[in-house]
Amino acid sequence: MPSLDKVTSFGATGQGLVIYPAHAPGPFYSARAAAGMLLVVLYLALPWIPIGGAPAVFLNVAERRFHLFGLTFLTQDLWLGFFLVSGLGFGLFTLTAVLGRVWCGWACPLTVFLDVVRRVERWIEGDALTRKRLDGEPWTLWMGLRRAFKNGVVLLLATVVAHAFLAYFVSIPGLFQMMRTAPSEHLSAFLLVSGTTALLWFCFGWFREQFCIVLCPYGRLQSVLTDEHTLVIGYDATRGEPRGKVQVGAGAGDCVDCMRCVQVCPTGIDIRQGLQLECIGCAACVDACDTVMRKVHRPSGLIRYDSLAGLSGQKRKLWRPRLALYGGLMMAGLAAASVAVSTLRSAVVSLTRLPGAPYFVQGEVLRNQFLLRVLNKQPSATVFTLELEGKQAEGLALQGELHEQVEGWSEGQMTIVLTVPLKHWSEGGPLKLLVREAGGKVVASKTLCVMGPDFSAQTPRATAAVPVTGDNP
Ligand code: SF4
Ligand code: SF4
Repeated sequence: MPSLDKVTSFGATGQGLVIYPAHAPGPFYSARAAAGMLLVVLYLALPWIPIGGAPAVFLNVAERRFHLFGLTFLTQDLWLGFFLVSGLGFGLFTLTAVLGRVWCGWACPLTVFLDVVRRVERWIEGDALTRKRLDGEPWTLWMGLRRAFKNGVVLLLATVVAHAFLAYFVSIPGLFQMMRTAPSEHLSAFLLVSGTTALLWFCFGWFREQFCIVLCPYGRLQSVLTDEHTLVIGYDATRGEPRGKVQVGAGAGDCVDCMRCVQVCPTGIDIRQGLQLECIGCAACVDACDTVMRKVHRPSGLIRYDSLAGLSGQKRKLWRPRLALYGGLMMAGLAAASVAVSTLRSAVVSLTRLPGAPYFVQGEVLRNQFLLRVLNKQPSATVFTLELEGKQAEGLALQGELHEQVEGWSEGQMTIVLTVPLKHWSEGGPLKLLVREAGGKVVASKTLCVMGPDFSAQTPRATAAVPVTGDNP
């Protein structure tokens, strides 16, 4: 019998106990199954869907390039991740404050894949009672074969999920390429996928919801994110108590104490004892109890989605201070991330002086040399062109590689030389070097100065106190 003093899935000495949740068909089960199937397809399909020449999600760690829904981020852009992760994190806080563990019960990949595993289990080994009975009986050849088959199917599922996971990091073509070659040629990826497969197999086959109870950090955060107005799955004690076998007469509660809500719970708790940390919000007990209520001709909703305030007959409140706080932080994070993303350019440009002397004098001509690096963040090759802007000294010229084709997602280097007659050197002002991509759009603007000899002090000086630096516009 579940109790508030212990976790049902652990024995007295802390050993894991097997829970045999019964199948509870109903509207919530059907809706969750449909949502689960959609999510399984989405999780598996994201590395296949091309957006802007790259997979929708491709975390190319090897080349330190990250593609997210058509946007390309390089390691230099990772500071944006702070705002994005903060925005999404506070978004999850807001969702939790309003809808409780809706993520856990409906969308978490573990819950979604465990639903698939349970179907496989029911299909091969039968319903919960049969599985429990078989587990208590001595092994037979037939039982061993059935178990081996079930574990084989679960292992296959774990292998597929682990490979889909790897595809997020190496892309689908990269994954197929690895599958065609020996593991020794991509040992780290092979070990990663083998380890992930083993972990998933262990989780799908045995650990299951214990992950939600003892390991998941989000699960641990729930109690501080929710309050009495958060939507949870709860038991209406005012209506259900005093419980008992199908009762008639005044004073009888609606709960017939059939224990069906306990039998279907994947974490083995009795929701009639109140909201508990182990409840993952799967709604199986809602379907189970509604079915019982229909059979005994009582209104459904004895166990239902409601707030703790609603279940105890108090007024429900949607707007609370914590919602304004979480929502405001979410909006701030997402707004900052949007603004930051809008500053992303299709190329990253850096300009440095060539090593060695800062300037050269050849006859009457002063020469400064620079190295320009252009990182093309687009999937296709692009020609970048350079031009100067600003008040220029008479005779100043920009020479070198002023047009350069840079392959997609590659870096190109251009050596450029600024020459100016010595007699005009101190004229003009800070210069701007504009880098344009094909089509004429400026992708970067760099400020630079021309350095030369200081005839009065016999030391180098610059036309303006402006360093050779600058950011993308
Ligand atoms: S109490 Fe109900 S909603 Fe919570 S985990 Fe158990 S069956 Fe799912
Ligand atoms: S399923 Fe409903 S009626 Fe049966 S024990 Fe649970 S709350 Fe009571």
